[in-house]
Amino acid sequence: MKKLVVVGNGMAGVACVEQILRHAAAFDITIVGDETHVNYNRVLLSSVLAGERSPDEIVLNPLDWYRQHNISLRVGTRVTDVDAARRTISDDGGAITAFDVLVLATGSSAWMPSIPGLDKNGVFVFRTLDDTRALLGRAGAGVKAVVIGGGLLGLEAARGLQVQGCEVTVVHLMDTLMERQLDPAGGTYLRDKIEALGVQVLLGRRTQALLGGRDVTGVEFSDGSRIDADLVVVAAGIRPNVDLGRKAGLTVNRGIVVNDYMETSHPDIFAVGECVEHNGVCYGLVAPLLEQAKVLAATISGHRGPTYAGSVQAAKLKIMGVDVFSAGAWEDGPGASPVRFEDPALGVYKKVVLRDGRLSGVILVGDTSDSHRYMDWLRTGADLATHRRQLLFPPPAADTGLDVAQMADSATVCGCVGVTKGAIIGAIHQQGINTLSQLKEATRASTGCGSCTSLCQELLKAVAPEFEEEAPKVLCGCVPFAQENLREILRSQRLRSVQEVLDIYGDGRGCEICKPALSYMLDMLWCGDHDEDRSARFINDRVHANIQKDGSFSVIPRIRGGVTTPDELRRIADVADKYRVRMVKITGGQRIDLLGIRKEDLPNVWADLGMPSGQAYTKGVRMVKTCVGTDFCRFGTQDSTAAGIEMERRFEQLFTPHKVKMAAVGCPRNCAEATVKDIGLIGIDGGWQVVVGGAAGKSVRRADLLITVETTDAALDAAELFFQYYREHANYLERTYDFVERAGIDKVRKETVYAPDPVKAGLRDRLRKSKGRARDAWQEGHAPVHPTQFIPLQPIDQAIS
Ligand SMILES: Cc1cc2nc3c(=O)[nH]c(=O)nc-3n(C[C@H](O)[C@H](O)[C@H](O)COP(=O)(O)OP(=O)(O)OC[C@H]3O[C@@H](n4cnc5c(N)ncnc54)[C@H](O)[C@@H]3O)c2cc1C
Ligand code: SF4
Repeated sequence: MKKLVVVGNGMAGVACVEQILRHAAAFDITIVGDETHVNYNRVLLSSVLAGERSPDEIVLNPLDWYRQHNISLRVGTRVTDVDAARRTISDDGGAITAFDVLVLATGSSAWMPSIPGLDKNGVFVFRTLDDTRALLGRAGAGVKAVVIGGGLLGLEAARGLQVQGCEVTVVHLMDTLMERQLDPAGGTYLRDKIEALGVQVLLGRRTQALLGGRDVTGVEFSDGSRIDADLVVVAAGIRPNVDLGRKAGLTVNRGIVVNDYMETSHPDIFAVGECVEHNGVCYGLVAPLLEQAKVLAATISGHRGPTYAGSVQAAKLKIMGVDVFSAGAWEDGPGASPVRFEDPALGVYKKVVLRDGRLSGVILVGDTSDSHRYMDWLRTGADLATHRRQLLFPPPAADTGLDVAQMADSATVCGCVGVTKGAIIGAIHQQGINTLSQLKEATRASTGCGSCTSLCQELLKAVAPEFEEEAPKVLCGCVPFAQENLREILRSQRLRSVQEVLDIYGDGRGCEICKPALSYMLDMLWCGDHDEDRSARFINDRVHANIQKDGSFSVIPRIRGGVTTPDELRRIADVADKYRVRMVKITGGQRIDLLGIRKEDLPNVWADLGMPSGQAYTKGVRMVKTCVGTDFCRFGTQDSTAAGIEMERRFEQLFTPHKVKMAAVGCPRNCAEATVKDIGLIGIDGGWQVVVGGAAGKSVRRADLLITVETTDAALDAAELFFQYYREHANYLERTYDFVERAGIDKVRKETVYAPDPVKAGLRDRLRKSKGRARDAWQEGHAPVHPTQFIPLQPIDQAIS
C-alpha cells in the first residue's frame, strides 16, 4: 500500500484526507502535526476566546475518527526537513519517515513586524488553541490589553479579550479598520460599532517598541506617545509556512506554488491550504482551502480531472452584534459602478460594485442578512440588469422556499466550511438525511459560525423525504441561541440587562418568548444583582397577581406549609368583605385564594392583608404542602410541618424556570402527596427521603429519589442543592419533571448531592446570594408586610426544634 504522509494536522490537511477517504483510495496514511491537539475548527478560536464555546466544542475530528480510519497520528511533532530525492521527512524527535506521496499542509504563522520587545512576557499571537488558552490565562478584569492590528483577527481578539474583562485598545497602522475588506466609509461605520462595545481604537499609529523589563508594560508609537499594556496581541498579518517547500526544492514564491491540480513542481509532493500560492494568490480563508482539498484529493486518488480555478474571497467578522461582510473587488475605479446605501442612525452601510452589469464586489456593515445572495451573484457572474432595483434590498421574501429553490447548485450555503447547495442535496438523497444534526455530521455544513443554519433547514424541508424538525433548540427567532449557550454568553460577557442582550445578540426588540426568559436568566445568573426591566416580564409578573378571564385579579397570600393563624384568617376575611371579593377559595396547595379583585384595589388589598405574596402568578416558588406529621399524627416519624415551613422560607421569593411546588410528609403514607411534587421530603424511620421531578398536573410522574438522609438539616440541604441546580441548568419554562428526565437522575445526583464539596458550596453560595437580594413583590413600594411574616433564615435545627 502506498504511504501517504500529510504534514500539518490543520483544517486543509485533514479536509484533504477526508476527501481521499471518500475516494476509497488505498493509502497507508500518516498525519504529522506540531500542535498537540486533534483537528479543530481554527475559525472558531475567536468564540473560544469570547467564552461562547469551549475548546471541546470546536473539535472537528476526535481521536476516534483517526482510529476508525487507521490513520497514524503524530501530534506535537514538528517536521524539520524533507528529502525529496529519498522521499523521506525528518522530524524534531529525530525520526525519519518514508513517503510515496507527501502533502504539505503547513498553513501560516502570525507575521511579526520587527519591533523591539516582542520577546517579553505577555506578548502573544492569536493563531492556535494554545495561543487562545495562553491569552485566556493572562486576560482578566482590569488587565490592560493592546491589540496591534485592526484587521479581522485583531478585532476578534480585541472583542474576546474585552469580554474577558480586559480594558482593550486596538492600534492600527492604517487610517481605517479592516482596510483590506472595507472602504473608508465602511471602516468608519465599523469603528463606531467597535468603540460602542467599549474597545478603544487608535488609527494611524506605528508601533515602535514594546516597553518593560521581562514583562511587557506598555507600547510606544513612532510619534513618541505611549500607552500602558499588561498584555499585547500581535495580529499584524500572516505569512505562509513555506520552509519545508524550500527544503524540498519546490518552486516557492510567497507560498508554495501549485497548479490547477494542486501539484507542486515535484511529482510526488503536493500542497494545500494557506501555505500554497495559486495563480499568484495565497488564500487566508477556509472556503478556498476546502475547495483546494477536494481537487487535491481527486488528483492524489488517481482521479486527476477536477481543477482548482481560484476562489472568490469573502470575509465575515465574527463579533456578535457587529455584522460585517466583504467579498470580491469592491474598489471604485474605471469601469466600476458603485451603488451605496448608508444610514448612520441604524449603523448600516452597504456598497455594491458592478462591472459590466455583473457584481464585482460588496461591502455590508450593520446588516449582513443578504450576504449569501451576493455570494451567489459573485460566483455565478449573474447578469444583474434586471435586478438593479433590488441590488441593495431584495424583495421581501414572501416564500423563503422559493428563494432556496432558485439558488444554483454550485452556490455556497456554508461559507465557513465551503459546502454548496448541490453537496447538501446530494448528501440528503444519498444518505437519507432527515435532520439538521445528520446533515451537520455528513457535510459539516452549519458547523462554523452558524449563519447558514436557516438555509440548511430550508433545504432539508424542501428535499428531505421525511424531514424532522428537531425540537427548537434556540430560544426564539429574535435571540437565536440555545439557552445553554445563552447562559454562557450572558455570564462570560457580563451582560446584565435584557435590552443589552437584545441589542447585541438579538433584533433589538425581543418578543414575549425571549424577554421573560432573558429576565429570568439574568436574575438567576447574577443572583439578583442585575438591571431588572419590569416591562420584560409577563403581565402577571408586572402586577404581581393572576389575571382572570373577566379581567379581574386573584390574590393568594403566602401561607407557609399551609399553616395559618386566627389573626391572618381574620385579616383575610376583613379584606374579602372590604373589597367585596367574589369568591374565597381553598386551593389544592393548602392556600387561600381571593378571587375577583379589581386591578386598582391590588395595592390596598396587599397592604390590608399584611402578608407576603404567594407568588401564585409567576414562575417561582408556589408552596410547600405539609401534613401534620409528628405534631399530631400517630403515624408521623418526622416533623413534616416544621420542615415544610422551613423549606418554603428558604426558597420563597426566588424565581425559577417554571413554577415549583413542594411538599413534606411525616411518613410514607404521603398524605400531602410529596411523591408527585417538584421537590418532596418524605419522612421515614430515622431520616428522610428527598425526591425530585414529580408531577400531578397535565403530566403525571412519580418523583425520583435524590438521596436518603438521616437529619432534617441534611434533607433541606439536599433540597437546596437540587433547587439551585434546577435554577441554573433547566431551560426557561422547563418543569422539574422534564428537566430531571432530560438530564437523567444519575447526573443530577452526581452534580448535586454527590458533587465535590466546592461544587456544592458554590450552589449553596449562589442560592444564598439570590435569597439575600430577593424581595417580596407586594412589599416593594406598596405596603408594609406584617413583621412576623419575615423571619430571617436561621439554622434549621433551631427552626424546627
Ligand atoms: C482566530 C482565527 C479566526 C479565523 N477566522 C476565520 C473566518 O472567520 N473565516 C475563514 O474563512 N477563515 C478564518 N480563519 C483562517 C482559517 O482558520 C485558516 O484559513 C485555516 O485554518 C487554514 O488552514 P490550513 O490547514 O491551511 O492551516 P492551519 O489550520 O494553520 O493548519 C496547519 C497546521 O500545520 C502545522 N504545521 C506547520 N508547520 C509544521 C511542521 N513543520 N510540522 C508539523 N506541523 C506543522 C501547524 O501548526 C498547523 O496545525 C481564522 C483564523 C484564525 C487564527
Ligand atoms: S403522611 Fe404520615 S405522618 Fe403525615 S399525616 Fe399522613 S400518615 Fe400522618
